[in-house]
Amino acid sequence: MEHFDYLIVGSGLFGATFAHQATKAGKRCLVIDKRAHLGGNVYCENIEGINVHKYGAHIFHTSNKKVWDFVNSIVEFNRYTNSPVANYKGKLYNLPFNMNTFFEMWGVKTPEEAAAKIEEQKKEAVAAMEAAGVKEPRNLEEQALLLIGKDIYEALIKGYTEKQWGRSCKDLPAFIIKRLPVRFVFDNNYFNDKYQGIPEGGYNKLVEGLLKGVETRTNEDFFAKRDYYESIATKIVYTGAIDEFYNYKFGKLEYRTVNFETEIIDKPNYQGCAVVNYTEREVPYTRIIEHKHFEMFGNCVYDVPKTVISKEFSTEWTEGMEPYYPVNNDRNNLLAQKYRELAQNEKNVIFGGRLAEYKYYDMAPIIEQVLNITDF
Ligand SMILES: Cc1cc2nc3c(=O)[nH]c(=O)nc-3n(C[C@H](O)[C@H](O)[C@H](O)COP(=O)(O)OP(=O)(O)OC[C@H]3O[C@@H](n4cnc5c(N)ncnc54)[C@H](O)[C@@H]3O)c2cc1C
Repeated sequence: MEHFDYLIVGSGLFGATFAHQATKAGKRCLVIDKRAHLGGNVYCENIEGINVHKYGAHIFHTSNKKVWDFVNSIVEFNRYTNSPVANYKGKLYNLPFNMNTFFEMWGVKTPEEAAAKIEEQKKEAVAAMEAAGVKEPRNLEEQALLLIGKDIYEALIKGYTEKQWGRSCKDLPAFIIKRLPVRFVFDNNYFNDKYQGIPEGGYNKLVEGLLKGVETRTNEDFFAKRDYYESIATKIVYTGAIDEFYNYKFGKLEYRTVNFETEIIDKPNYQGCAVVNYTEREVPYTRIIEHKHFEMFGNCVYDVPKTVISKEFSTEWTEGMEPYYPVNNDRNNLLAQKYRELAQNEKNVIFGGRLAEYKYYDMAPIIEQVLNITDF
């Protein structure tokens, strides 16, 4: 009978990076995935010559040189810099909040003028709370008003946040927004990280590189042949949902998800950048992603005659939908903790990745974790 050192359940970045490292160290690995393709959520579908991020826009960013050098040793990354734009009632604002945003909102031209405007608005929020006899912000709305003031809150935070959470900001807890970074420089780079980009040729190239020389099987659900898969490997690396591994014995963990409406548009350039946030409540989607801008810069966008856009609708998760974001409320945290305690007792199973840990991770921390545990 065939035998492997590691059976890796899930070919997302956790599983693929683990397989790469283990194979390099001379271990025999088998990677299975229940989807029809490899790569997990970073998988891209080629439509009209454009890499479409099928499970949501993915921008790689990190300040960890070891992680950056590692991914670039598999495939070179391009110079994409995330600089989203917000559309509020047809008016455009640069993000994250910086001098460009303040100029667009108030016409202020110097950092002093911008800081004074924000302070004035914050004071108004403090005064309103004092007048109402409120000492601590009772909800997200009050918290945001104290941190940034009315104009930016109403145009750029309120509607977007309400769509993301499916609830009024008045009904959301204040702790969700701990701080709101403002920059008094003209800089639309969304991330503060030292390195960012997209793999040249798309994420599938990264996954192909990681899984080069590794045996893989798609359309294979671990639970459909659990006994067989448990018998063919010394150890299992499990990156699927932790509650499913234990047959939901304590109950099901909950998620929020995103629905994507993807369209081919018969023009080369739809919105001029990769990400436009729609920040008013009345527009039902939160963002429009125009995928070609992740990999085609300047007038190169005109080399491809069509474009592909995805509208993102933030939605409550129900059975059968993609589980994207863990909902870290008391119920789910307690449940996840109970599953994690069971997992700690498994001698031959390594649990890793966003589903097995029931935790949101960006891509770079996932890779960092794997590099840290694969020092064979
Ligand atoms: C909408 C969205 C946008 C994001 N954008 C960014 C971003 O811009 N930048 C960033 O750094 N990170 C981003 N992330 C995070 C990024 O997607 C994750 O860090 C990364 O995908 C985690 O990899 P993973 O291997 O843990 O999980 P996944 O990619 O989900 O891989 C898990 C794999 O396991 C497979 N599987 C599950 N159960 C079974 C089973 N029973 N049998 C066989 N196979 C199974 C699944 O099919 C899947 O392929 C985003 C996440 C989401 C949800």
